[in-house]
Amino acid sequence: MAKDQTTNPKARSWINVDPESHFPIQNLPYGIFSRRHEPKRACVAIGDQILDLALLYDEGLLSQGHIPFNVFALDRLNEFMACGRPAWQSIRRRLFEILEEKTADLRDNRELQKRALIPMGEVQMHLPVFIGDYVDFYSSEQHATNVGSMFRPDNPLMPNWKHLPVGYNGRASSIVISGTPIRRPNGQILPPNEEKPIQSASKALDFELEVGFYAGKANELGTRVATSDAEDYIFGLCLVNDWSARDIQRWEYQPLGPFLSKSFGTSVSPWVVTLDALAPWRVSGPRQSPAVLPYLKYSGKWRFNIELEVWLQSEKMSAPQRICKTNFKNMYWNMAQQLAHQTINGTNVQVGDLYASGTVSGDKPDSYGSMLELAWRGERPIALNETGETRAFLHDGDVVAMTGYCQGDGYRVGFGECVGQIQPAKEIA
Ligand code: CA
Repeated sequence: MAKDQTTNPKARSWINVDPESHFPIQNLPYGIFSRRHEPKRACVAIGDQILDLALLYDEGLLSQGHIPFNVFALDRLNEFMACGRPAWQSIRRRLFEILEEKTADLRDNRELQKRALIPMGEVQMHLPVFIGDYVDFYSSEQHATNVGSMFRPDNPLMPNWKHLPVGYNGRASSIVISGTPIRRPNGQILPPNEEKPIQSASKALDFELEVGFYAGKANELGTRVATSDAEDYIFGLCLVNDWSARDIQRWEYQPLGPFLSKSFGTSVSPWVVTLDALAPWRVSGPRQSPAVLPYLKYSGKWRFNIELEVWLQSEKMSAPQRICKTNFKNMYWNMAQQLAHQTINGTNVQVGDLYASGTVSGDKPDSYGSMLELAWRGERPIALNETGETRAFLHDGDVVAMTGYCQGDGYRVGFGECVGQIQPAKEIA
């Protein structure tokens, strides 16, 4: 197979892209945008602009062999995703070609450029995908061990953890686009040293740094997806913040797992970075011991070297402070195994389903992907250096910004940001 030119590190666009931009010509992540009162439609990011794909299609610039109609004029990516991997790849190759410095089609058409390229500051981004189902995994060994050791010091990892990628069915309706404020949830909590619960706003609101993938292909109910076919089912990746109310969670989670402690809001980044764009950052490992069952065996590189960071800014601070730096390659279970496990019982994956990785934690104290771990259950509050404030959990007004990128030689393939600000709880009578 010919080497994929769309990831060539030496490729350059006729559009000027800063070396620290997340959106060079090698990335071309998909999103849904709107401007003023115009309808939502699909775009890719290039430098600090977006490229209007619906317009390019209408102007006849996109190869239309695999695309039955102008799927880019819709307010979600699902229909494009459903066109399948050959279509994803041919559109990616064509977009790359249009933006490459040697191609004149758009480069020399100033009139079309004015309409097709829009500064990011002038557009509003929307949820890129209609998400029918949402699953959250728990695939970082370090995270599972950290959390387990707080609640079960003698037995941090449950006996099943190394045999299957633990997960739960989450709530899709409350998934929101980056920038949407997050309301502190009310619920039931059991105060320390009490026997009866109270109704209260959560006092232990937390974030979870995760990476998710959108399914781009469906399997029929009753069939399964083999790890060797997983590639065709994964359209692209995004950043996910699985907001979590730890006090509500602690009281409700046994015996059936998290329920209202997670369902009040989940934030996703606006950009979907394709598997093809991430190909140069795929790495192998880890060694899984004990050996997994046959349906979870896989081949190829299924870890991704994606630098991840979390930044926190209180209302008093003038700039955010980085509180976590970790890497997605830390994960124990991978996306191919998650899909194979999800469908081993015949569950039907649908186009647009979101699968989140679980909190990404590394082995250093500043590489933990939640405040529960960073502040170790409140025992080691995080110091906010600018104002002298401390944080065990999130306060009203706090802004949490997650970011992630793959570092290349002189360029970055990134995810942009996933941001949310905490709003005070609603009064409950
Ligand atoms: Ca989670």
